[in-house]
Amino acid sequence: MTAPAQPQADTAERQDFFGNFGGRYVGETLRPALDNLDREFRTAIADPAFQAELARVQKTWVGRPTPLLFAENATRALGGARIYIKMEGLAHTGAHKINNAIGQALLAKRMGKTHIIAETGAGQHGLASAAACAKLGLDCRVYMGDLDVRRQRPNVFAMEMMGTRVIPVHSGTMTLKDAINAALRDWSATYPDTHYLIGSALGPSPFPEIARIFQSVVGRETEQQMAEAGEEIAAMIACVGGGSNSIGFFEPFLDKPSPRLIGVEAGGRGPGPGDNAVRMAGASRYGIAHGYKSRFLMDDDGQVLPTHSISAGLDYPGIGPQLAALGESGRIEFTAASDEETLEALKFFARQEGVMFALESAHAGAVAMRVAPTLGRDQAIVVNMSGRGDKDLFITAKALDRDRWIDYLKNEIAT
Ligand SMILES: *Cc1c(COP(=O)(O)O)cnc(C)c1O
Repeated sequence: MTAPAQPQADTAERQDFFGNFGGRYVGETLRPALDNLDREFRTAIADPAFQAELARVQKTWVGRPTPLLFAENATRALGGARIYIKMEGLAHTGAHKINNAIGQALLAKRMGKTHIIAETGAGQHGLASAAACAKLGLDCRVYMGDLDVRRQRPNVFAMEMMGTRVIPVHSGTMTLKDAINAALRDWSATYPDTHYLIGSALGPSPFPEIARIFQSVVGRETEQQMAEAGEEIAAMIACVGGGSNSIGFFEPFLDKPSPRLIGVEAGGRGPGPGDNAVRMAGASRYGIAHGYKSRFLMDDDGQVLPTHSISAGLDYPGIGPQLAALGESGRIEFTAASDEETLEALKFFARQEGVMFALESAHAGAVAMRVAPTLGRDQAIVVNMSGRGDKDLFITAKALDRDRWIDYLKNEIAT
């Protein structure tokens, strides 16, 4: 295929708010850093030399364009709309996160920054940042809750191998939200030579727009690949953690009345508090955290609440501000898939298509299985497989084949 159109910033002017959501809720010290980032980002995006460098790295290192698969067997088995899968999990490091990481790392380098800070929960964004920094010769340090450091040893190992320093965070619940706060604190003191590479379409302005623009390559490729397949899209389905894969996938269609855009949140173990990470499709609150205003799972005092999901990437308690606005305006429909439905979808697509979804992406797969039979055979839907499932082996094997997996681990320890 020919390369799709290059990304464009919406306007030459920065947009702080999306409806009621977004903004810049940070200390005074960070305002100059954000202003500078905003200016440099707009100049870079408008510069053909930056676009050419981005396109070259996307092609030769990220592995773009990622394929679009017609899921013929899955379509036949479900007996409704034709299902297509955007195989974003085939991108380097196994997920869409690399698109934002390499884009922002290129921007940081252009700005003359020599150091990168990133936060990570499960480690996927940390891994993408570590890889981008190794490739571009930037020094990288990643904040990670101490609990996550201990739970996600394989990703910590990979980050360190790529030369990144992983800094365990011991405050609060020792998870992602604490890592974000630590990263913001570090950046307040270091921004003259350091860029904060935030991992999703959230945080203070202009970060939500930056992540969306760098992820929009997924949507622009999909639009072109579906047109080449002669298909009109009835619905697009993506999972929603912070919101970067979904907003990038939906990007070319946000200002149009169609197709249906469906965001899938983590239904977890059930509807009880702490058992899921459902924000838009459930009862979340308006609040401010991590530098922006959005809908959060919060208590009366504005403290973010614990969440649960079988997928480590969908348990963030907030949601990117533009997605919150598009959810309230009705342009994006939100729904949830439970842990159990997600595992069923994972098994279904593995058996039917020989494709193992990441657990995050399998939430979108589960909703594709729900939606396809409600549509006609002459219609087509696309599900974004934001990541591939290799990274989840320690969770899925334990959930689906417990005894033999534990036996394997015991043998590993014994040798
Ligand atoms: C991190 C991650 C997500 C969730 O993050 P978004 O910013 O909502 O895209 C989804 N899928 C995969 C594979 C991930 O690694």
